[in-house]
Amino acid sequence: MEGERQGGAGRFDEQAFRSEVREFCERDIPDDLSAKIRRHEYFSKEDRVQWQRLLHRRGWFVGDWPVAYGGAGWGPTQRLVLIEELERAGTPWLTHFGFSFVGPVIYTFGSESQKARYLPGIRESQTWWCQGFSEPGAGSDLASVSMFAERVGDHYVVSGQKTWTTMAQWADKIFCLVRTQRCERRQQGISFLLIDLRSPGVTIRPIRTIDGIHHVNEVFLDSVHVPVEDRVGEEGEGWNLARFIVGRERLLVAELGKARRLLDQFAELGRSLKDGSRALCDTVPFRLRLAQLEVKLHTLRTSAYSIAADMERGKGGESDASLLKIRGSELQQAILDAVVSVIGESGLAFQPESLLAGFSGVTHGPSMAPALVFDHLYSRATSIYGGSNEIQRGIVAKVQLGL
Ligand SMILES: Cc1cc2nc3c(=O)[nH]c(=O)nc-3n(C[C@H](O)[C@H](O)[C@H](O)COP(=O)(O)OP(=O)(O)OC[C@H]3O[C@@H](n4cnc5c(N)ncnc54)[C@H](O)[C@@H]3O)c2cc1C
Repeated sequence: MEGERQGGAGRFDEQAFRSEVREFCERDIPDDLSAKIRRHEYFSKEDRVQWQRLLHRRGWFVGDWPVAYGGAGWGPTQRLVLIEELERAGTPWLTHFGFSFVGPVIYTFGSESQKARYLPGIRESQTWWCQGFSEPGAGSDLASVSMFAERVGDHYVVSGQKTWTTMAQWADKIFCLVRTQRCERRQQGISFLLIDLRSPGVTIRPIRTIDGIHHVNEVFLDSVHVPVEDRVGEEGEGWNLARFIVGRERLLVAELGKARRLLDQFAELGRSLKDGSRALCDTVPFRLRLAQLEVKLHTLRTSAYSIAADMERGKGGESDASLLKIRGSELQQAILDAVVSVIGESGLAFQPESLLAGFSGVTHGPSMAPALVFDHLYSRATSIYGGSNEIQRGIVAKVQLGL
């Protein structure tokens, strides 16, 4: 599957680029971050910003942006290789709301003034963005958004609630789908606004997820004033921008590199844990499970690179990203189910505090157990966010049946 490939800005040598990223992850990660990776610690905002800036200095952070906007014009394959290798090395998750979602929306659909005002802050990780699509009554059925923006002169006055907003507690800005008009066809009358979270009338409340960590929030807007010049695209045409983002989101959640890393950890547990007097990896059930998961990962990886190659050629079906989303999230859950089943009782002792910097207590079971249990719990969300797997199956069925 490897070799020389056609990238957006020309050919790139996949093997050489992959080795370069691996070497960078081995040699150039700052010591404090590297120690956190080894200890499976939860990354702070500062860790993530530091890492993103390092990647930017290397020319990789926005490598798939057009050259005119500070990128390198990579195609989807080179991007996939980078993300796969970074995930494999366990480096901080790149917070895609800015560089992969709103950034491309702005350079594709935004005005010149929006490009000048917002793209530099995204590239340099100076501005932290979050995504305000979901509402209590609008998740799978996103066209039901009811946050309302009333036009008053050169401002919109925005009121309503967003929910499940990942990392809003760290964000400076939120991009929101808001209703600017009530239309019979619900996809019409939706607009795309860039909103400053420091504006008067904004309240952010944490939601604690099953893993005990504060990732997601409720965001309330009460008569928040947003300049009309912060609307991207035409009024009432935000739905197209939402579809543009949702397509990008599903490709990212295949998480090939994370699956590889977790499967390697599963194999490592097999070598270190015992079943009676034998190493666990010498037992048939363990080997069978490992082999089944390896086959699934191999298939997913082959599909992901083949879909990326189709995209390079301007091809690719509407349901391709849905297939990756379904298989990627199911595989991650299956690997983590397998991991938790072999760590046994240690899997019951969930210790989220041990993932935070400065923890000096005792952890139960193998040293990697708390991080794996954390991943296991959080992985329940992978089949929900970015469009639930039931919705993805609906998309695949519609395309295949020609409905
Ligand atoms: C950890 C996490 C982080 C998130 N981060 C963000 C974020 O940063 N920004 C953001 O905007 N949103 C975010 N989300 C929200 C996410 O996109 C929604 O949760 C998701 O789209 C599902 O919507 P819902 O929760 O309203 O569930 P619902 O739409 O109410 O669905 C409930 C159940 O019904 C099923 N269902 C619904 N409709 C159908 C149908 N037509 N056919 C078959 N089954 C159906 C669903 O699959 C699901 O199982 C996040 C969610 C999670 C869990």
